[in-house]
Amino acid sequence: MKYAIINGYIIQKEKKGNIFIDNEVISEINYDNLNQEDIDNLRANGFEVIDANNLYVSPGFIDVHSHSDLTIIANPDACSALYQGVTTIISGNCGFAVSPLYPNTLNSIKTEAQSYNINELKWGSLKEYLDYIESLDIAINYGYLAGHGQIRAGLFGYNNIKLSENDIELFKNELSKVLDDGAIGLSLGLIYIPGKFSDTKELIELAKVVRSKGKILTNHMRSESSKLLEAIQESITISRESGVNFEISHLKAASTAKGKARDACYLIENAKKEGINIDADQYPYEASNTGLSQVLPDKYLEGSIEDIIANISENEEQVEIDIENNYHTPWDKIIISEAYNPKLLKYVGLTIDQISKDLGLTPAKTVIYLLKTEGYDLGAIYFLMDEEEVDYIATKPYVMVASDSAIRCPNSLSWPHPRTYGTFVKFINKYVKQKQVLSLKEAIYKLSEFPAKKFNIPKRGSIEKNYFADIVIFDLNELKDNSTYLDPHKYPEGIKYVFVNGKLTLKDNQLLNRNGKVLRF
Ligand SMILES: [Zn+2]
Repeated sequence: MKYAIINGYIIQKEKKGNIFIDNEVISEINYDNLNQEDIDNLRANGFEVIDANNLYVSPGFIDVHSHSDLTIIANPDACSALYQGVTTIISGNCGFAVSPLYPNTLNSIKTEAQSYNINELKWGSLKEYLDYIESLDIAINYGYLAGHGQIRAGLFGYNNIKLSENDIELFKNELSKVLDDGAIGLSLGLIYIPGKFSDTKELIELAKVVRSKGKILTNHMRSESSKLLEAIQESITISRESGVNFEISHLKAASTAKGKARDACYLIENAKKEGINIDADQYPYEASNTGLSQVLPDKYLEGSIEDIIANISENEEQVEIDIENNYHTPWDKIIISEAYNPKLLKYVGLTIDQISKDLGLTPAKTVIYLLKTEGYDLGAIYFLMDEEEVDYIATKPYVMVASDSAIRCPNSLSWPHPRTYGTFVKFINKYVKQKQVLSLKEAIYKLSEFPAKKFNIPKRGSIEKNYFADIVIFDLNELKDNSTYLDPHKYPEGIKYVFVNGKLTLKDNQLLNRNGKVLRF
């Protein structure tokens, strides 16, 4: 199929031009003024002509921080990403990855998969997982990070152990194999089990393996609140000592770190001056989204999620006292966003405060009840950040945009964070149109070219000859995100056309094709 996108404003080039697509790639770009005869000629030569007059043309957006390992299987149309102009996602973040599978990680992943009606895990190795995703005929491009937590749990279990020299050697060998299976890099989740049990030395040794393969290391840091600055220092140390290409995931100053965004950025800027290859990504929202189990005191966070729930069920009274003494976020700032037990569905979208009134229990008892009844972790949205600091981080040149969400389609039985449907459009809308703190070109760079360069994704992220034709065309005036915390399954407005690998995939919110590729590195 051949397309000619004519008269559109090509943002990266800062002028109007015409883009020609032949098969999968951009075959030519020119800046001619086309008259009706030229257009007729194009049609006669087999081009489908898209008139992009008064529209803006950008490389397809790249979401480097996705948690779609399982939801892409349930939603191969990738609606929530595609409808906002995202053409490539990188999943396997925060140390969680669903491959390779190990005997002792299988159960947790099976339970999670069942919540998306996936009854069989049809892979073992990371390569088999990517083969399987490829067989699904997905609508966007898909790259994958190996997960540190997944491999560590597979080799050494979920318990709090420090690795010996021999253990680290074993880990390095396994990591090397997993990376060679096509992963784009390695993700860390140092707030989660078992990543949190790793010391900096272990991480530096693993980072050296990642570096030797020319891949990227991403880090959900040990703390984003009380120990934020220490966590950034640790990231800098790992990158400095190993030389690895390093990405801080979803940079934020949450909860007790409110007011520390400037200090956090200052540390990163100094490291960059020193020549350290460290950057970050961010979602432009004031609430985060993770498991409800994060409100449990540290001492209960050991073992698999099933172990944790068994443990708190046996010690309910003590757990209640410990939550009350240790947890300081107001209970009206936490919303339950996902539950699968039918008994709990009525609580999705409500705060812990509201649920506790309904149940007639204290908030701490409510948390225990919810975890016990679900038998697994529940999704929760935490309102913990200051908008002014979110904006401060958003404008930094070394911070790219990423959603930290899992792909959904509107029929999913879920209550996702609005970042799932809105991140990329909201970013342009807020910082280019409303606050006018970034130019459109600067914003587009953070959504496409910057992530492609940082993650070494070849021939994507720019409108260039011979690059893959991943392209989004939008009406800047109409561009608006519509997803909210109370009504999340809402598509943005203003996205007119999305091309994926040279095929017109989305036109006026109509899905026409599924032409995504699994990207192997
Ligand atoms: Zn994370």
